[in-house]
Amino acid sequence: MSQEFERMRTVLDEKYTLIEQIIITDELTQIYNRKFYNDKVLECMSLYHRYQTPFCIIMYDIDNFKNINDSYGHSIGDKVLIQMSALVQSLLRDSDYLFRIGGEEFIVLLPQIQLSEAKNVAEKIRKNVSTLEILEDEAITVSIGVAQMGAKDTEDSLYHRVDELLYVSKNHGKNRVSS
Ligand code: GH3
Ligand code: MG
Ligand code: MG
Repeated sequence: MSQEFERMRTVLDEKYTLIEQIIITDELTQIYNRKFYNDKVLECMSLYHRYQTPFCIIMYDIDNFKNINDSYGHSIGDKVLIQMSALVQSLLRDSDYLFRIGGEEFIVLLPQIQLSEAKNVAEKIRKNVSTLEILEDEAITVSIGVAQMGAKDTEDSLYHRVDELLYVSKNHGKNRVSS
């Protein structure tokens, strides 16, 4: 009887872990979702306030993605999202987190990193994305914002700062990093 109980417990534990994983994962790209970003950024902010542990966020958005969908079809658009996510994930350390926060908008959370280092990561993402060969004779590019958590920041102020920096990149010709 207790053996049977143990077996059922293991099955339930495995199911619980799977459900936990599904709740924080973006179905299309299999990277983390926006809900998990909200949790993780609060965790990083609490470490920042308690131990002054720095952290940065990178936000990027695909350039002219509507045109990509219109020209090549929605399923090629999906393929771009999937392959780009796998590529960016491969450029990051195990301690970094990659989230899909909207249709074609992403955030990288970089714990224990200063702005200068985060800018290098952003530039590496920008360069590598532009080498993806998915579309016929057309490069895929991203516009990027980078920000470091500051003493006066709230979750919202940090998010809005990096979002505004992304739009600085969009307004200055796209395919660039602003910090
Ligand atoms: P910009 O360079 O200024 O960012 O322009 P854009 O065309 O990339 O931006 P816009 O916001 O006009 O278009 C985003 C498009 O992303 C519109 C929407 O149809 C598409 N999109 C959002 N989610 C998905 C998805 O899951 N799959 C596909 N294929 N397209 C998506
Ligand atoms: Mg876009
Ligand atoms: Mg967008």
